Amino acid sequence: MLPKVKRKAEVVKNHCVACGVCANVCPKDASTIYRGIYAVVNEELCVGCSKCSKACPAGTIRMIEREVSQ
Ligand code: SF4
Ligand code: SF4
Repeated sequence: MLPKVKRKAEVVKNHCVACGVCANVCPKDASTIYRGIYAVVNEELCVGCSKCSKACPAGTIRMIEREVSQ
């Protein structure tokens, strides 16, 4: 059986300015700011809507295709 591929958000951490915009726009609470330093996306919660990627003022969230088990 072929693995299933889903779209997920990924943060380029060293470009993140920890502004919190991604966390505010995420409808699934998948994005959080780790210790006020950079954003982290919980892949299990992320539904790949790309709202965070479009809203990020630093352009540091990319959408990637990732294999998932189900
Ligand atoms: S919106 Fe962009 S710069 Fe702001 S916390 Fe999220 S990833 Fe970092
Ligand atoms: S792609 Fe959508 S669900 Fe995933 S972290 Fe960004 S705003 Fe949240």
